Order: sequence, then C-alpha cells, then structure tokens
Amino acid sequence: MQNPDPQPTRRQFLSALAASSLAAPAVAMASAPARGPELLVRKALRPIAISSGNGMKAVELALAQMQAGVRPVDAAVAGVNLVENDPHDMSVGYGGRPNADGIVELDSCVMDGPTHLAGAVASLRNIKNPSLVALKVMRRTDHVLLVGEGALRFARLHGFKEENILTEEARKAWLRWRERLSTKDDWVPRKDNELPPKNGKQHDEDEEEREHGTIHLSALNSAGTLGAVTTTSGLAYKIPGRVGDSPLIGCGMWLDNDIGSAGSTGRGEAVILSNGSAQIVEQMRQGKSPTDACLELCKRIAHYTRISRLLTEDGKPAFQVNFYAINKKGEWGAASLYPSRCSLATEDGIERKDMAALYERRSK
Ligand code: ASP
Repeated sequence: MQNPDPQPTRRQFLSALAASSLAAPAVAMASAPARGPELLVRKALRPIAISSGNGMKAVELALAQMQAGVRPVDAAVAGVNLVENDPHDMSVGYGGRPNADGIVELDSCVMDGPTHLAGAVASLRNIKNPSLVALKVMRRTDHVLLVGEGALRFARLHGFKEENILTEEARKAWLRWRERLSTKDDWVPRKDNELPPKNGKQHDEDEEEREHGTIHLSALNSAGTLGAVTTTSGLAYKIPGRVGDSPLIGCGMWLDNDIGSAGSTGRGEAVILSNGSAQIVEQMRQGKSPTDACLELCKRIAHYTRISRLLTEDGKPAFQVNFYAINKKGEWGAASLYPSRCSLATEDGIERKDMAALYERRSK
C-alpha cells in the first residue's frame, strides 16, 4: 500500500541517503531539519550534451530539446538525426559509405537512463535513420538488438520509409575504392585507361582512404537523467554483414543512470575487444573523472593491440579510437589514441574541444 504520509519514512530516507553516496552532488539535504531528516531536495544540474567532432549541430539541438523538457534519449536521437540526414557526412545514415558490395548497412543503438532499457539495430539497409528504429526496438519490443532483414522488416512494419540511401558521392567513393582494390582483377580506374595528359602528369583523383566515422551523443538533463545514442554506417567497404561496436550495448555506448554515460567512435573491433563504453562507466563508478576513465580505456586498447598488422613501427596502435563520457555530476571528458576533437553543448554555449590523447602523433 502506498504511504499516505508525504514525509519520507526512515527507510525511504536511508535508501535515498545510500543513493546519494553514488550520486552525491546531485542530491543535497535541505537546511537542518527540525525533527530528524525530513526533506531531500535535488539540486538542478547543468544540462550537457557531448558528441564526436561531427556533432556540433547535434549537441546544440539535443541541449535545446532537453531545456524544452524532452527526455535525454529522445533529445540525443533528435540531435544525431541531423547528421544521419546529412548527405555530406559520409560516416552516418544517408550518404554513409557502403559495404564492399556497394550497399549501405547502418548500425545504431540507444539507451535510456531511468528505465535502463536499450534498443539497437545492425546491418540495417534502406532506412535513413537507424537511431529511430533503435528507439522503436527499445520501446516497442522486449528485445534489445535486431539485425539485417529482421531489422528492416520491423522498421517497415513501423512505417519507416525505405529509400535509396547511397548518394552519388558515396557511390563514386566506393567505385574508386573498388577499382584500386587489386591490380589483378578487371576493375580499372579511369586514369589507367587514359593516355597521360600533355604535361606528362597523371591526373589524380582524390585518394580514397578506408574511412571510419560515426556519431555518438551522450546527454544529461537538469534532473540528472541520462540518455545516449550511437549511429554509423560503420567501417567503409566492410565485409557485408560486418557489425562494429556502434550497435553493441556496452561497446559503442553504455550508460548507468546512477553513474554516467560513455560512447565511442573509431575502430570498432578494438572497442569491442576492450568492451570500451561499459568499462568507462565502471571506471567512473570507481571514482575516475570522465577524461581519466576514457584515457584508461585508450591505454587498455594499446595493451590489447598485439598483432603486427595493427601496430605502427614504434609499436603503437595503427588506428584511431575516440571515447566520450559524462558523469552524473554533469562533468564531461573525452580521450583518444591520437589527438582529436569533440563537440560539447552546455548552458555556456556550443564548443569544439580538444580531447586528451594517449599519443601525440601517429607514425607509419
Ligand atoms: N566505430 C565504427 C565501427 O567500427 C566506425 C567508426 O567510428 O569509425 O563501425
């Protein structure tokens, strides 16, 4: 039966006090009570949204939405939808780089602090906003992760529009990659079938690198509620069906509403093999600041990277990983293997920030 007395019972007070040791700055006792402890007042926090470098507009929108009362997980998803819809961001959503067959396959996950529920989709084709489908998985199923054909059918049944999400820019990038893949097959870059130009110099098309790219966004509102999302087209030209860290709860994103939230971008295999985001939240639980927690995981990734094709000549990881975190107090932090920048929105404004880096520069 509900306690009709609006005053907290001694038991309620003690459990609130225990909770306050996990989230000390968010909970404070009102002025000294006259007859024993009576009232707990939650101090308003400063809302904050952190994201990868490609998320300046995303954090701005996420913060504005939280200030308007939107739940952090929905505000975070609204933020990253801007990037998913942007044809010029070739690492996420519409316009993302395709897999080795030239087909765009998207991965995303979302997590909600208060309910501790998550939703995710992997290898999803033909849908611009995998993060919105991940939200539906969280809210309209008893599952956490749907993949491939099953994820697409689920999206269709929920009314998502199927469309061609391979832009001309991404198709041409894929074609350049395919033509350079092997000198022993029949795919030939245009310049190799042309006479050399009159000035004797080969006409040089943009060199296409094997790009990574993703957006992660973690958000905290003034009531201390966390929400987070990660969304990506994954590693460019991946083997069809390859799933990176981004849709895997605990790898590309994780949160505990009592502690904080974390997410990653960069080489997904390394994040999976270190269980990155969950471990960052655990590090924060042990008392590390968000930046130190992210740095600790960068060190672990360096420690776990042992095979020579993944190492530079001087024995460092030959790839990039970035971690972003916020704790329950509203403190942010970020770190990467090599220098990088993140996007931050607070009541003080929207800024691009340098992240801590484990190494100053990457050699060959
Ligand atoms: N983490 C993503 C993946 O491995 C890609 C990236 O962020 O670069 O799929």
